[in-house]
Amino acid sequence: MFSLIIPVYNEEGLIGELAARSIKAVESFTTHYEILFINDGSTDSTLEKLIEVRKHHSGIKIIDLSKNFGHQAAFTAGLELAMGNYVAMMDGDLQDPPELLSEMYRMIKDEGYDIVSGKRKGRKGTRLRLATNLFHIFFKKIAGIDDMENSGNFSIMNRAAVNALVQMKESIRYLPGMRSYIGFRQGYIEYIRDDRMGGEPKMTLSKLVVLGADAIFSFSKFPIKVCLFLGTIGTIVFFFAGIYALVDKFFGLAILGWSSTVLSIYFLGSIQLIFLGVVGEYVYRIYKESQNRPIYLVKKFYDAENE
Ligand code: UDP
Ligand code: MG
Repeated sequence: MFSLIIPVYNEEGLIGELAARSIKAVESFTTHYEILFINDGSTDSTLEKLIEVRKHHSGIKIIDLSKNFGHQAAFTAGLELAMGNYVAMMDGDLQDPPELLSEMYRMIKDEGYDIVSGKRKGRKGTRLRLATNLFHIFFKKIAGIDDMENSGNFSIMNRAAVNALVQMKESIRYLPGMRSYIGFRQGYIEYIRDDRMGGEPKMTLSKLVVLGADAIFSFSKFPIKVCLFLGTIGTIVFFFAGIYALVDKFFGLAILGWSSTVLSIYFLGSIQLIFLGVVGEYVYRIYKESQNRPIYLVKKFYDAENE
C-alpha cells in the first residue's frame, strides 16, 4: 500500500483542488493507496471540506488533531498512523507538486533508494527564499549532516525508514534533519517549488524562526562552540588587559580609569548573558524532552474502522 501524508491548517480554500490533484496523481501509479489528511486544529471549515471529499473517495482518511500542534507534529501523526509500505510526506498548500509523486515512487521502487527527497532547485519568488537557502547552507555546515541538500518535508520513504523515524520520540522535531540523520540510502529529485495556491502561509516568520532554532539546537553543538570561542577570546583579552593594568600600576602610571572598568563590566556582563541564553535553550530542550508529553493528540480518526 502507498500512503500520502498531508498536514493542513486552515486551508479551506485549497482542499478541493488539493484533494483532486493528489488523488489524480496517486491513482496514476497505484490503486492501492490511502491519503491521510492531518487536520492540525483548523478553525475554519477545513475539516468539513475534508469530510465531504471523503464521502466520494474511500482512500481519503482524516486524522483530526485535538488542537494546533504545528506542522512537524502533524507530519509525525501521519507517519505513525500510515499503513503503507511506501509513505510520502507533502505540504498541503500545493507548493510541493503532487504530480512529482509518481516519479518519486518509481525511483524508490526501481532504483534501490530507501528515501527520496524533493530537492528545491528554486522557487517562484517567495519573500523568505533567500533566508531559507542561507539557513540550509548554514545548517549543513554546522550540523555535519551533509546530504540534506536543501530538502524540506516533501519526500517518500519505505517502511524501514518510516519505522526508524517513528522510533525517534523526541518532542522537538525537525523532520528533514531527522530524515538525514537516520541514514539509509537517500536519493533526491530536483523540482521547482511553486507558490502556494492560495491563502496565507501558515508558517509565519516566527514559526519558521522557532523551527530553525529547533534544527540548530537539536542537531548541533554549534551554539555551545560559539560560547566557548567567545569565552576563550574574552579570557585572553582580559588576561592581557590585566597584565597591562599591573604594569601600569608598578610603574605608577595608573590613573585609575573609570571607563575601562565600566567597559569591562559591560563586556563580561553581556557575554555572560549570551551564554546564559544559550545554556537556557538547552535546559529548555532537556525539560521539554523530559516531560515526555505526546507529540500530538488525536480527536478523531476518520477511517473505515472508526466509522
Ligand atoms: N501547517 C500545519 N500546521 C501549522 C502550520 C502549517 O499543519 O501549524 C501546514 C499548512 O497547512 C501547509 C503546510 O503545513 O499544508 C506548510 O505550511 P506553509 O505553507 O504555511 O509553510 P511554508 O511553505 O511557508 O514553509
Ligand atoms: Mg507553503
